[in-house]
Amino acid sequence: MRQPKSFYIRTYGCQMNELDTEVMVGQLESRGMHRTENELDADLLIFNTCSIRDLAERKVMGKLGKLGCSPTRSQAVIGVTGCMANAKKDAIFQKLPHVDFVLGTNNIHELNQVLDDVLSTGKQTIRTDDTFEHELDYLSAKRDDTVKAYVSIIRGCDKFCTYCVVPYTRGPEVSRPPESIIEECRHLADKGYKEITLLGQNVNSYGKDKPEWNCLFHDLLYQIDKIPGIERVRFMTSHPVDITRSLMEAIRDLKSACEFVHFPLQAGSNRILKKMHRIYTVEEYLEKVQMLREIVPNVSLGTDIIVGFPTETEEEFLETYRMLKEIEYTVAFIFSYSPRKGTPAMRWSDDIPEKVKQDRLQRLLALQEEFYAKHRQEMLGQTVEVLVESLNFKDDTLIKGRTRCWKNVLFPGTPDLVGSLQQVKVHGYSHQTLLGNKI
Ligand code: SF4
Repeated sequence: MRQPKSFYIRTYGCQMNELDTEVMVGQLESRGMHRTENELDADLLIFNTCSIRDLAERKVMGKLGKLGCSPTRSQAVIGVTGCMANAKKDAIFQKLPHVDFVLGTNNIHELNQVLDDVLSTGKQTIRTDDTFEHELDYLSAKRDDTVKAYVSIIRGCDKFCTYCVVPYTRGPEVSRPPESIIEECRHLADKGYKEITLLGQNVNSYGKDKPEWNCLFHDLLYQIDKIPGIERVRFMTSHPVDITRSLMEAIRDLKSACEFVHFPLQAGSNRILKKMHRIYTVEEYLEKVQMLREIVPNVSLGTDIIVGFPTETEEEFLETYRMLKEIEYTVAFIFSYSPRKGTPAMRWSDDIPEKVKQDRLQRLLALQEEFYAKHRQEMLGQTVEVLVESLNFKDDTLIKGRTRCWKNVLFPGTPDLVGSLQQVKVHGYSHQTLLGNKI
C-alpha cells in the first residue's frame, strides 16, 4: 500500500472523542500528513465513533457500509477508532471487510504504529486494550480552538450504570498524574489559552484510584487556579455521588472555577434510580443541590435525564417532571431510553412503547423550554463577563463568547477582542443566545 499523504477524520459523540481526535491529528501531522475536510480527497479516512446511543452507531455503520461500495474510495486506508472499536472489536471486520484497522479508545497513542503495520503488511489490524496504561502525548495534540482547550484528567468509569456502555468500552477509571495535567495546562496558558475544560467520564472521582498521590479533584482545581493566564476552568462530566463539599468550596473560592456544575439526575424516582444503579436517592441528590446552592449561591446547574427507562410508570415519570420543575436547571439534556448492547439493562424488556416515550420526552422538553425562556428574560439588563471565543461566522461585525455559566452571548466587537474577557450588558436574545453591548 502507498503512504497516505492526506487524512480525513470524522468525530462522533462527546468531548472525549473530540480531544482524542486532536491527539490523532497531532500524530498524523507529525508524520508529514495533512488534514482535509473533504473525504473524497483523503488517502486515509478515520471514523472516531461513539456507542452511547444506538442511532450514533447505526449512522457510522451506514456510512462505513457505503464506503465499501465506493470504487473511488477503494484505495483509501480506512480506520475505526473510538467507543465502537472497543465495543465491537473485530466484529467490525466481519461486517465491513474494507476497514483496514480498528483502534480502541485506550490505544490511540498507537495510531502511527498501526498505520505502518497496515501499510507494510496490507493486513487488517486491531488494537483494543481494556485498560488505559499509557500517557498520551497531549502536548502535540493539534487543537482547532485558540481560546479554549480540553484537558483529559481521567479515563474510564467504575460506576456501571445499568444503561451505559462506557465502563465496557473505556474500561476502569485511570487518573492521569497531576504533574502531567499541570504541565499541559501551563503549556496551554503559555500558548494563550484562557479556558480549560477538564474532561473525564466522571471527572470528580479523579485521584480516588491513586490515594498515594494525595490529590483529589478539588486539590487539582486549586493547583490549576495558580497557573497565570488560565482565566476559567470548567469540568465535565460529574457523578452526583462524587460532588463533595470540598469541591463546592473550591468552586466558591477559586477565581478560575466557573459557577456551572453538570449534575446529572437521570430520573426522579428512587425505584428507577436503583434500577439504573445510580447509587443515590432523590433525597440525597436534593440535599447536595441545596448544599451547593448555599455554598455557591450564583451557581447554574445542568443535567441529563432519561425518560422511558424499562418499567417506568407514569407516576414515576411525573416524579422526574416534578424534580425538573423544582430544581430549574439552566441546561437539561433530555433523552428517551434506547437499549445498548452489552449493558445490564439490555437484558430487560424495553417495555415502554415508543409513543409513550416520545410523549414523556416532549412534556419534559416543553417544561425545560419554559425555564430557558424565563432565564433569558431574567438576564435582560444584567451585565455578564464574557470570554470572547470567535467572530460570528454569519456577521463579522459581531463577536461571540460565553458567560461563566455557559450561556452564549453575541455582541458588536472587533477580532482583536478574541481571547479577552469583556463586560457585556444584555439587551435581548435570539433563541438560546443572549444579545448585548460591551460596556
Ligand atoms: S457514571 Fe456516566 S459514564 Fe459512568 S457508567 Fe454511569 S452514565 Fe456511564
